[in-house]
Amino acid sequence: MLNREQIGELRGQYLGPSYSVSYKKPLHIVRGEGQYLFEVNGKRYLDAVNNIQHVGHCHPKVVEAAQQQYEQLNTNTRYLDETIINYAKDLTDKLPDGLDVCFFTNSGSESNDLALRIARHYTQSKETIVLDAAYHGNLSSLIEISPYKHDGPGGEGAPGFVHTISMPDAYRGKYRGEKATGGYVNEVQKTIQGIQNNGEKVPVFIAESLMGCGGQLILPKGFLKRSFELVRESGGICIADEVQIGFGRMGSHFWGFETCDVIPDIITMGKSMGNGHPLSAVVTTREIADAFNNGMEYFNSFGGNPVSCAVGQAVLNVIEKEGLQQNSKDVGGYLLNQLDGIEHPLIGEVRGRGLFIGVELVKDRGTLTPAAEEADEIINRMKDGGILMSTDGPDRNVLKIKPPVIFTRENADELVFNLTSIFDELS
Ligand code: PMP
Repeated sequence: MLNREQIGELRGQYLGPSYSVSYKKPLHIVRGEGQYLFEVNGKRYLDAVNNIQHVGHCHPKVVEAAQQQYEQLNTNTRYLDETIINYAKDLTDKLPDGLDVCFFTNSGSESNDLALRIARHYTQSKETIVLDAAYHGNLSSLIEISPYKHDGPGGEGAPGFVHTISMPDAYRGKYRGEKATGGYVNEVQKTIQGIQNNGEKVPVFIAESLMGCGGQLILPKGFLKRSFELVRESGGICIADEVQIGFGRMGSHFWGFETCDVIPDIITMGKSMGNGHPLSAVVTTREIADAFNNGMEYFNSFGGNPVSCAVGQAVLNVIEKEGLQQNSKDVGGYLLNQLDGIEHPLIGEVRGRGLFIGVELVKDRGTLTPAAEEADEIINRMKDGGILMSTDGPDRNVLKIKPPVIFTRENADELVFNLTSIFDELS
């Protein structure tokens, strides 16, 4: 068996150097169970960051479903198969009426790429409106629409057909407090006008309803609803990226877009959908799907295979049977409240919905200068104390909490206790 130093060395030799590894002293995890991960030396970590392992690491029902289907059959969507149909039906039953046509893919990136292709085909326009600091995936087409990447290290900026709205941050952004909704909506309006003045056709708008890589950012009230209206009035269509926030994590609602009182034209999903198995999807309306059916076949070697669909079905069943949306609401609400109670000058804002929470750290509550080094120090100390969190946001000053949705109140208490002690030490 290789030791951690040997693994580190071989990573350097055999993996692309653009990969990163978490924490100053990286972890060598060998087993996962529920909301816990175990290091090679047996040390247990509470996983407060892995929103992919939605219903818990190695959930027995999910493992069993995958294993059973794998033993029986694994083909592709070119055969008639019950698993995919039952799953597509159950998945779309969770969505508003009319959003009931599925395309299956293998990653959030693939879903967003396909959604863009479908949307651009429908609107006959490549013009795309995005939110600053958004991340939508690692494919070339998505780096183009992800300011988080193309405006970050190694990025080459946005291409001409991508139009960026300032990050709709009511706390530290361009428009704050009461002025936030109007300010950002105005930018959307002006952007649409600009596109039209250039003689271009109506746009595609893509957004998360609560920004993940943007730093667990709740959009100003009414911003998304008004933006959707403006885009639609101009003939455009709206894509909701639910890759991080869907499947009950929000607690109050099954999908993120529902918290903003909008109904998208296209929804993309991934991550939690397969609990770690590469399963993702695009769901849209019959009209938009039919328009995309221009003669070119959609085929995906792996997307929608029976094993993936059996896994997706098991995840949906577990969310339902174990009441995990309600758990997100209860435990997430409790955790948010407890975090809000921590007194420390570094804490600028505590925000989130369900089990998708961010703690934004600032060096000074007047200037709101982001406290990135402090955030990094805190997550490393939390890790040493056995709790895994991460940092994010364009300035990497937001502590991110997005655990498997089986997280308990006791887990929340442990997290808050450790975090409070670290803040005390920092004082
Ligand atoms: N959209 C969002 C909002 C994401 O957070 C991510 C991944 N972090 C993606 C898309 C891309 O998903 P994947 O890594 O599965 O390609």
